[in-house]
Amino acid sequence: MKDLPDQLHDLAARGLERRLRPLASGSGPKVREGGRSLVNLASNNYLGLATDPRVVAAAREALERYGAGSGASRLISGDLDLHHGLEADLADFKSAPASLVFPTGYAAASGTVAAIAGEDDVIFSDELNHASLIDGCRLAPARVVRFRHRDPEHLRALLANEPCAGRRLVVTDGVFSMDGELAPLPELVAVAAEFDARVVVDDAHGTGVIGGEGTGSVERFGLGADVDVRIGTLSKALGAQGGFVVGSEVLVDWLVHRARTFVYSTGLGPAMVAAAAESLRIVRAEPERRAALRENARRLREGLLAKGHRLIGDEEVPMAVVVLGSPDAAVTVAETLRDRGILAPAIRPPTVPEGTSRIRLTPMATHTPDDIDAAAAAFPEA
Ligand SMILES: *Cc1c(COP(=O)(O)O)cnc(C)c1O
Repeated sequence: MKDLPDQLHDLAARGLERRLRPLASGSGPKVREGGRSLVNLASNNYLGLATDPRVVAAAREALERYGAGSGASRLISGDLDLHHGLEADLADFKSAPASLVFPTGYAAASGTVAAIAGEDDVIFSDELNHASLIDGCRLAPARVVRFRHRDPEHLRALLANEPCAGRRLVVTDGVFSMDGELAPLPELVAVAAEFDARVVVDDAHGTGVIGGEGTGSVERFGLGADVDVRIGTLSKALGAQGGFVVGSEVLVDWLVHRARTFVYSTGLGPAMVAAAAESLRIVRAEPERRAALRENARRLREGLLAKGHRLIGDEEVPMAVVVLGSPDAAVTVAETLRDRGILAPAIRPPTVPEGTSRIRLTPMATHTPDDIDAAAAAFPEA
């Protein structure tokens, strides 16, 4: 490992050093870092559920009844009635026949793609898909072809020209969270249907957030029955930890047999299962949280536009993304914001393409108008 110090030095010289900065508080609208209070525009805890007292109480109750860890892979002895309860709730929420919970969203996405794409199959993958999908493609024995970002016409051309002896799978994020964009799902689904391709959507940022009922981007377009595999996470708007897949009973049965990230990993811990179930109940019962989130996102965007910034992304995706270019430019703005009491991350390569380093601000339903205005005021002029 003698070369690692040099390589780390090289990353730092290119503005790509990454540093861990521990918080001394939960993921609330304000957080404590290094003895200071910062307005938190850096979490995926969109609805504020990670610190909701009801969610915390549900987790505590499960901890006391079941203990800390589930003890084994679910196929050995780590399968709890709690898991099945949550899976029934998720299937119901998504109007799907069945659901399966994984230890993380990363495990759900990578393990599912790797398990369903066989040797004779071809995967057609959006070039900006999340790393978990990319890694699933790498682990699959299938051939992988990348289509241009959010480009159904390019997908059609590739589907028409790539020889395939087995299944064709079209794989995309539902929400591209680094750009704040929705995937063009109706168009992608229509193109896939022309070639009898199966569709896989990872909607990690959609669940709880997108659509009037927060069911997600697939459901927002009324495509629940047209998307064969729907992947999500319990770790973002649901404020807990874990991942899930919804789809047919056969799909879930296959994943129980063949998804290595399910089979060879300990069952999701009881506290997180119970927290996610309570969060899901709140997501369904309290649409006003989504309304507050959207209002905060609108207010934040308006504040940044007034400062002369150009924002990318769709209005429906509740975040503000400002592309700045070089890693140094993004880091400088992030540091200025931190000095002014605002936590918002610089997003740099390899998370985003070269030359498109950016600041991404994600408001929460539980921010006050003052919190949002403080963030816009702290942002340097364009
Ligand atoms: C965040 C994210 C994941 C990973 O989910 P975790 O629960 O954090 O592991 C997977 N896919 C997409 C598209 C994501 O945005």
